[in-house]
Amino acid sequence: MRIIRVRHKDQAFYAAIVSPESVRPLNREDGQPDEIPLAELELLPLVRPSKIVCVGLNYMDHARELGLAVPEEPILFLKPPSSVIGAGDAIVLPANCEQVDYEAELALVMGRTARFVSEEAAAGHIFGYTCANDVTARDLQRKDGQWTRAKGFDTFCPVGPWIETDPGDLHDLTLSTMVGGQVRQKGNTASMIFPPHLLVSYISNIMTLLPGDVILTGTPAGIGPLKAGDEVSVEIDRVGFLLNPVIGQALGEPMAVQ
Ligand code: MG
Repeated sequence: MRIIRVRHKDQAFYAAIVSPESVRPLNREDGQPDEIPLAELELLPLVRPSKIVCVGLNYMDHARELGLAVPEEPILFLKPPSSVIGAGDAIVLPANCEQVDYEAELALVMGRTARFVSEEAAAGHIFGYTCANDVTARDLQRKDGQWTRAKGFDTFCPVGPWIETDPGDLHDLTLSTMVGGQVRQKGNTASMIFPPHLLVSYISNIMTLLPGDVILTGTPAGIGPLKAGDEVSVEIDRVGFLLNPVIGQALGEPMAVQ
């Protein structure tokens, strides 16, 4: 099932896509129709997370391309909720960055509160899966020695276009990034070092994961830079296709809040 978040007559809710033209509210309220035409809806950002927990160096080939040792435990960092944008929204290149890279990632969206959850019980706490781009200011990442600024700019977390609740085998999903229609990055979740359910368990033993929280599961080999005017897409088999234009930040102008 593919799920989006929408607003209809001042109500915001999750809805399943039932045809190219219509959706069905997931938890139908009294007086709501069974099906609502897409044309009557306002699309909302898919998630409003309390936090976005990300995993660094989670693919063998990516650790190798950076010349770094394979980690013994997941390397975690956070992106701020304010970095989230949806499908079609613009990634804004900050004026003070020289190199901003794409990173295609499988994203997990939490459905139930998770604290001290076992790997076996993790699936029952996940709402679904979507595509994400862990946009990174690579020059600032190197310069700062930690990643808050490099990973945290507004617009640096495109997520979408929908939440897929049943993508099949999580350990065999092909991910790719295309820039201007050319494939730049290609990998498969089979080469993840720490698989999705282990990550949910590991993170839930550190912090409480709340419904709507997002976990970005790391990127495969082939990261590379973006420039203003590009169109970048992240495609994941059986999950979705996330396309975002890339624009430069006009000097002296604040970024638009999305
Ligand atoms: Mg990443």
